[in-house]
Amino acid sequence: MTFHAKFSGYADPALHAVGLYIGGKWQSGSGITVLDPSTGNLLAEVADASIEDAQRAVDAADAAAAGWRATPARQRSEILRRWYQLMTQHAEELATLIALENGKALADARGEVAYAAEFFRWYAEEATRIPGEFRHTPSGSHNILVDHEPIGIAVLITPWNFPAAMATRKIGPALAAGCTVILKPASETPLTAYAMARLGEEAGVPPGVVNVLTTSNPGGITNAMLADPRVRKLSFTGSTGVGRVLLAEAAKSVVSCSMELGGNAPFIVFDDADLEVALDGAMIAKMRNAGEACTAANRFYVQAGIHDAFVAGLTARMKSLKLGPGYDPETQCGPMITQNAVRKIDRLVSEALAAGARATTGGKPLTENGYFYPPTVLENVPVNASIAREEIFGPVAPVYKFESDDEAIRLANNTEYGLAAYIYSRDLKRAMKVGKRIETGMLGINRGLMSDPAAPFGGVKQSGLGREGGVTGILEFMEPKYFAVDY
Ligand code: NAP
Repeated sequence: MTFHAKFSGYADPALHAVGLYIGGKWQSGSGITVLDPSTGNLLAEVADASIEDAQRAVDAADAAAAGWRATPARQRSEILRRWYQLMTQHAEELATLIALENGKALADARGEVAYAAEFFRWYAEEATRIPGEFRHTPSGSHNILVDHEPIGIAVLITPWNFPAAMATRKIGPALAAGCTVILKPASETPLTAYAMARLGEEAGVPPGVVNVLTTSNPGGITNAMLADPRVRKLSFTGSTGVGRVLLAEAAKSVVSCSMELGGNAPFIVFDDADLEVALDGAMIAKMRNAGEACTAANRFYVQAGIHDAFVAGLTARMKSLKLGPGYDPETQCGPMITQNAVRKIDRLVSEALAAGARATTGGKPLTENGYFYPPTVLENVPVNASIAREEIFGPVAPVYKFESDDEAIRLANNTEYGLAAYIYSRDLKRAMKVGKRIETGMLGINRGLMSDPAAPFGGVKQSGLGREGGVTGILEFMEPKYFAVDY
């Protein structure tokens, strides 16, 4: 792996991994370039795994599987706990790495490292509480005994928008359950994953239990791994489009799938909401990671009586944000991940403007170096514009006016997605009543941030299958085994 001087200067060299991590060995290589999204300049180059490398990773995960499964839960728990502690000790270096390769503002990157590490702490605790069941048959003649066993080798595929947290949200429960894993991080942000693997090694994760590989051929190596009968789990976080392709591929060998896919979160503000609280929540729900979050508020539905004040308040707040490279401590809104991401946002905004929307701030990409799009507020957006159907994944807040509760519910549910939704109202009864009718896996009531390692994270409809985090997250990596016993 080669590094750009700037990268070496910012991040602790102790965290500079050297490439593929298979069977506890580091293998250097090149082929995948990592760019600084605030300039487009080269940051580092990492190894490009071949199908043979992926097969070696499955061999390594298989060789380690029996030993890890037999390792007492307490011991697995302590290794995860040490990994949590090491991530916490190295939080600043990890945050800097994330800010460098992903571009998010340092404050967001620090928040991500804390959130990511918490999955190791949470699953260190859950490792020792794996549930079983003992029941009576309805006839009363027999007993039903249910154990949970590790599902087997798990392939974990993660996106670039949370390079640390999306990995720990999978590795934590998988290791706690007794599974060995192969992690394939996104090509744009592999450095964080390798740095975390270094810390895992230091925490005492045995060779082969966690393997990490980067590749320019994600489809090819994933298909090869899914075709291997030893692989029994695919846990994917990414776009709904790629999720659909992977579900079809996994069907060929009936591999168990957990899917954390795209979102199109409605953010509903009722007339009776506390305006300042709603604006604070809107800024968090929209601007965490500069809008590059699956839970990001994608459509603001604001009731007629509070609409104008909300648009004015949101515009003032969005206008005041300072743009810059994520690693500059003053930055509040970093660059987008790629030029393509900027192009997509530009297309959605331009189409909305052409259809009659008005930008109260922002509205066109910046022309400087790097992949920047300015914080933007749109009002008077037609409810059927493409910006209401597609994930924006950027710092753009389209606001739509509504009159009645029923109208808000109908608009909110008018999407193939169902990951997250937000409601702002002082009337909790109303918020709960409306919330029950919103098709979503997660609902924030007067809260703009809902992610918590102790809560089940996931979506309904085409936002995914299964849940990560919480007490059920570990069961995604386990199979129940029923013992029918006569005695
Ligand atoms: P993406 O394009 O779907 O990529 C996600 C991962 O899949 C990357 O590691 C990518 O590798 C890999 N990949 C791409 N094509 C593949 C294939 N044919 N076979 C196997 N792997 C393949 O998504 P993204 O742009 O990185 O992330 C943004 C999306 O993730 C958004 O839709 C967002 O909503 C979603 N997301 C969801 C959650 C959630 O919890 N529900 C959380 C975060 C993000 P390469 O990088 O090498 O292409």
